[in-house]
Amino acid sequence: MLFNLRNKVAMVTGARRGMGRAHALALAGQGAKVVITDIDLAQCEQVASEVRSAGGEAACFKLDVSSKADVNKVFDQVIAKYGRLDILVNNAGIYEPHPFLDMTEAEWDRTIDINLKGQFLCAQRAAKEMAKNKWGRIINIASVASGGVGVGIAGGAHYTSSKGGIIGMSETIAVELAPLGITVNVIGPGAIDTPMVGAASLPKEVMDAMLAGVPMKRMGQPEEVSAAVVFLASEEASYVTGATLYVDGGWLAA
Ligand code: NDP
Repeated sequence: MLFNLRNKVAMVTGARRGMGRAHALALAGQGAKVVITDIDLAQCEQVASEVRSAGGEAACFKLDVSSKADVNKVFDQVIAKYGRLDILVNNAGIYEPHPFLDMTEAEWDRTIDINLKGQFLCAQRAAKEMAKNKWGRIINIASVASGGVGVGIAGGAHYTSSKGGIIGMSETIAVELAPLGITVNVIGPGAIDTPMVGAASLPKEVMDAMLAGVPMKRMGQPEEVSAAVVFLASEEASYVTGATLYVDGGWLAA
C-alpha cells in the first residue's frame, strides 16, 4: 500500500478543529498513531474518538505551541507514552487582522509567537527525538500569504511575516536536518473552508473577491490539504525536502 504510516507516531498541533483535525484523521487513516494537541483541549477528545471509532489509536494533550515549557512537557509525555516521534505537523496558527498603522507591539508579538516561534519550538524538539531513529518528517503549515508570491492580505502584516518566516526557517532546517534522516517541507494552503476563514466568518463580498482570483472558483476542503500532508509524511516522499507545496486551487498560477 502506498503512503502506509503503520507504526509511525504523528503529532499534529492545533488539531481540535479545521485543517489540524483533518490532518490527524488522515494520518490515522494511513495507520499512524496520532497525538492530537491544541491550546484548547475541549474538542480534541472528540477528534480522538473519531480516530478510535475508525479503528485507529489517538492521544490528546493540551499544548500552547508558543510556550517552551509547554512544548517540553508535552513532548516528554508523548515520548513516555510512545517512546518515539516520527512525524510532526506544525499546523497551529492564528489570523487576527489589524490595520498596519494601528497594529500594537503586543498584537505583532502574539502572532509571531504562535505562528512562527511555535513552529520553531516544536520542530526543534521533534527533530531531537527523530534524530534518535534517523528518520523523521516535519511538515510546516504556511500559507499563500507568505511573501514572494504576490498575495498580501489586508490587516495581515504580522500574519504574512510569520508565514514567510516559516518558509525561510524550513529551507534552512531542511539543510541542517538532512544528514539526520529528517525531511522538512512546507504546505502553503490557499483559501480553505475552516472556522478560520470559512464562509461562516468572512463577509460575502470579501469571499467573492478572494475566490474571483482562484481558477477553481471555490474554497478548498481541509481533506484536500491533508492529502498533501499524508504524502509528505510518507516513505514515498523520501527525496522531497526543503520544498513548499501550494494547495490553492491554482490561485498562484492565475
Ligand atoms: P483554525 O482556527 O480552524 O484551527 C487552528 C487551531 O489552532 C485552533 O483550534 C486554534 O485554537 C489553535 N491554536 C491557536 N493558538 C494556538 C496555540 N498557541 N497553541 C496551539 N494551538 C493553537 O484554523 P485553520 O484550520 O484554518 O488553520 C490551520 C493552519 O493553516 C494555520 O496555521 C493557518 O494559518 C493555516 N492556513 C489556513 C488557511 C485557511 O484558508 N483556512 C489558509 C492558509 C493557511 P483557537 O481557536 O483557540 O485559536
